[in-house]
Amino acid sequence: MASAVSTPDFAFQQCIAPTCQATYSIDQALTSCPQCGALIDIRYEWDKLPLPKTLDDFKKQWQNRYSPTAFSGIWRFYDLLPFLPKDKIVTIGEGQTLLQKADFVAEFVGLTEGELYLQYEGMNPSGSFKDNGMSAAFSHAHMVGATHAACASTGNTSASLAMYSSVSNLMRAIIFIGSGKIAYGKLAQALELGALTVQLAGDFDDAMARVQEVSKSMGIYLVNSVNPFRLEGQKTIMFRVLEALQWQIPDWIIVPGGNLGNSSAFGKAFIELHELGLIDKIPRLAVINAVGANTLYELYEKRGLRWNKGNINTKVIDQYYQELDAKGKKASTIASAIEINRPVNLHKCLRALNTCNGVVREVSDQEIVDAKAKVGSGGLGCEPASAASVAGARLLREQGVIEPHEKIVCILTGHQLKDPTATVAYHTTDQENFDSVLGSRGVQRASFANRAISVPNDSEAIQKAIQLYS
Ligand SMILES: *Cc1c(COP(=O)(O)O)cnc(C)c1O
Ligand SMILES: [Zn+2]
Repeated sequence: MASAVSTPDFAFQQCIAPTCQATYSIDQALTSCPQCGALIDIRYEWDKLPLPKTLDDFKKQWQNRYSPTAFSGIWRFYDLLPFLPKDKIVTIGEGQTLLQKADFVAEFVGLTEGELYLQYEGMNPSGSFKDNGMSAAFSHAHMVGATHAACASTGNTSASLAMYSSVSNLMRAIIFIGSGKIAYGKLAQALELGALTVQLAGDFDDAMARVQEVSKSMGIYLVNSVNPFRLEGQKTIMFRVLEALQWQIPDWIIVPGGNLGNSSAFGKAFIELHELGLIDKIPRLAVINAVGANTLYELYEKRGLRWNKGNINTKVIDQYYQELDAKGKKASTIASAIEINRPVNLHKCLRALNTCNGVVREVSDQEIVDAKAKVGSGGLGCEPASAASVAGARLLREQGVIEPHEKIVCILTGHQLKDPTATVAYHTTDQENFDSVLGSRGVQRASFANRAISVPNDSEAIQKAIQLYS
């Protein structure tokens, strides 16, 4: 355990651009390099820190469940993200998530029985994986003495921030949302949990741009995934996946891609574990975009954009964004959590794809809602964006990129109840509801709908109907 050392001495921030690599102290709140504008990494002088000899040593934490940091699914891996003293950690028991073997979904994806696993991050206290990153960023905000924290959000980041600020009572939460673009479950959380909610006339990309300006000029701590501490927390999703697999490395990790914080964090997790000699193989990474918000797919798969040792050809990116603007093209998908055209972690994600020999795919809203129905009928359910991972797995299997016997982990990023509107519209018998929520997105059919049966208010008729349908 690292208790004897003041760990921040061994942690620092560093610009990811190889031409710059400027370093900064850990107690600064940076979202980009002050010298060159590139993204920032959290780095550690590992050789000066106490580290486990094997990943299995983390099991010892389970014996100490009454300690909040040992109980947390993030902070029981403290040794792998020691950027703050332990007494600054803000935890509410996040990361008690589940890796589940899902044979029913494996069949749908086209995998051999026993090879598909679903990582249910919707089991986090605010119902999405965002709590992994928020616990880390919020703790850092606490460490640097912030009084206000802000984010732009398609919903889950704001729900998570609202939760940490109301539970801890350490900071005021300010959330920026686009108009009409937030799923009801998520908006309900932000409002009920007491966050100051700023609804602006624009979409997520607009909200993201404004929150960066406003927090800079007002000195508000920004917790969007440009915040490098978020990604430190999100690394632990991979640690828990490996832990659940008894430290076996799967062949593939498949994750939906929005702002690309998760995929970036996963890449960082694997490169660090590998460098530390704690794993000997790195899984492949597949990042799945929605067709209506497919910037990464377009740049990586169509235009050949690569990490290229950090010398990213930013002209290709600028050119693409100019094309989007010229066409007036806005992100549009039923998977609102990935309805993002200008992913802020693009550069880090390219690095992760390089580390993990990655691929990127796009899936349609039809494929997303059908995959979501399959996930739901096979178990615990997820929100639309999460199902993109399963739809993507199926596509990669169809294309022969994934073999039937390979071990696959799909990350289910958010809880089923986050977006009841999409779920009810899929299973509804009300064509108007279907058309307005899903038809308008180009979804033509609900291939796996579980429709309610209408019965008269009469017990004999009900019994007949049950006999007929069950
Ligand atoms: C935020 C979010 C995503 C996108 O994750 P990124 O790290 O931004 O790529 C996907 N699914 C859900 C449910 C989310 O809340
Ligand atoms: Zn720099």
